[in-house]
Amino acid sequence: MAKQIKKKRIAVPEQDPQARIHNFNEVALGYTFELAKEEASRCIQCPYNFAPCIKGCPVNVNIPGFIKKILENDMKGALEVIHETNSLPGITGRVCPQEEQCEMNCVMGKLGDKINIGKLERFVADYAREHGIMPETKIAPKNGKKVAIVGSGPSGLTAASDLIKMGYDVTVYEALHEPGGVLIYGIPEFRLPKDIVEYEVKYLKMLGAKIETNVVIGKTLSLYDLAKEYDAVFLGTGAGTPKFLNLPGVNCKGIYSANEFLTRINLMKAYKFPEYDTPIKVGKRLAVIGAGNVAMDAARSALRVGFEEVYILYRRTREYMTAREEEIQHAEEEGVKFMFLVSPVEFIGDDNCNVKVVKLIMNKLGEPDSSGRRRPEPIPGTEFALEVDAVVFAIGQKPNKVLYQEVPELKTTKWGTLIVDEKYRTTMRGVFAGGDAVRGEATVVLAMGDGKRAAKAIDEYIRTGEWPEEINQKTF
Ligand code: FAD
Ligand code: SF4
Ligand code: SF4
Repeated sequence: MAKQIKKKRIAVPEQDPQARIHNFNEVALGYTFELAKEEASRCIQCPYNFAPCIKGCPVNVNIPGFIKKILENDMKGALEVIHETNSLPGITGRVCPQEEQCEMNCVMGKLGDKINIGKLERFVADYAREHGIMPETKIAPKNGKKVAIVGSGPSGLTAASDLIKMGYDVTVYEALHEPGGVLIYGIPEFRLPKDIVEYEVKYLKMLGAKIETNVVIGKTLSLYDLAKEYDAVFLGTGAGTPKFLNLPGVNCKGIYSANEFLTRINLMKAYKFPEYDTPIKVGKRLAVIGAGNVAMDAARSALRVGFEEVYILYRRTREYMTAREEEIQHAEEEGVKFMFLVSPVEFIGDDNCNVKVVKLIMNKLGEPDSSGRRRPEPIPGTEFALEVDAVVFAIGQKPNKVLYQEVPELKTTKWGTLIVDEKYRTTMRGVFAGGDAVRGEATVVLAMGDGKRAAKAIDEYIRTGEWPEEINQKTF
């Protein structure tokens, strides 16, 4: 008898919106074993060479392969299938934009709901962590060569883990006091619990990586120091410099970059002040400028630290928002208010320069710009004032120049991203780069993919010593 197709996706239990805005605990609670098996049983097991889900995943996780192992109750097997290409499943299962990647082409979409691949991947990682299951890891004998990794975000951690397995001696240098990059200082606890990132870092250390925190390359040590001491260097320094709009009053107190706002809350645990000694300003109303994932994270964090009203101010309409649909829905459920077709023109402070008002202008949408999205055009005479106690800018970030400003050999694009070729080689011999430092703001899984491919290229370089005369920039 033909297998009956189960059309409806198995829902993932979540914290109730009214309860969760008072805590930082994870919103999506994850599948139980029974629910995971039920969801897994919906997958029709497309053959490996044709499965469109695998093609949609930037690191080509063998999705039907690990789902089959769940159905066979073989959780170690499921973990090992994922680990063949993805060493951070507990993280990607939570934060990947699956709807644009693995899940986008799932054939079940034609028959009903697409398979919830991300939540199944997360389930496997969580189950393994909770039951002390580790993947079988083959580590080649030490080859006597050393690699330095700068930055401990997903690109650096992935490159480090792959190089260790190839027999290299790896040291990761991180500017902050905790490793993890955006995973630890940017993405909030309620989307990505920090103990999951810490677990992955512990695993890397267990494999033998050394992690040196509080070391800023470009200040504490220079890139030249690393180039002298190591056989190769990988730069996974991300894109952590915030962008602001140069408007009157932008220097008022209470106007944060999303980076600072989220770092205070996530890394410095301002939501536990005074138990932790970093405060965060809390008032009645906060406005976030921007409409991507970072903006949603800032808005939802603001509600949790105690702002009564939180606004997202966006210059286009909802359909153009760049945040994941799941994040937008979660923000809506939690009571974040959205104001579309508005742009800030001025900030006004009180006598002590504390921001009190953001002046906004209404827009209409004009012709599409280079991004293909219709350009917002201000409508003269439509200015109005919104009273605020704090403002967060979440309009994008660019790479930090600390590391390369005194290294003229390292060339950058006009956007400040590092120039690399298809093997992630920068314009300085022996120095490789990947992740947001070369792509600009992108995603965790793309950064991981870069770290993986760069590790292979580093291995090839150290073994052959080959380096081209000229570096032809790869287009991302
Ligand atoms: P990063 O994660 O930025 O790490 C770079 C590290 O390098 C940092 O720890 C930094 O301190 C360190 N560093 C920098 N300069 C130096 C130096 N000179 N010396 C030593 N160390 C240095 N992506 C998703 O896929 N899904 C999401 O839901 C998502 N949400 C996001 C939410 C927020 C708030 C932000 C900011 C980003 C989000 N992203 C998301 C994007 C994603 O986090 C990044 O694309 C990814 O982390 C980039 O990885 P990376 O390794 O290139 O750099
Ligand atoms: Fe999907 Fe991301 Fe996992 Fe790939 S790594 S299967 S895109 S959740
Ligand atoms: Fe399963 Fe969908 Fe992938 Fe096919 S495309 S193997 S149904 S997850």
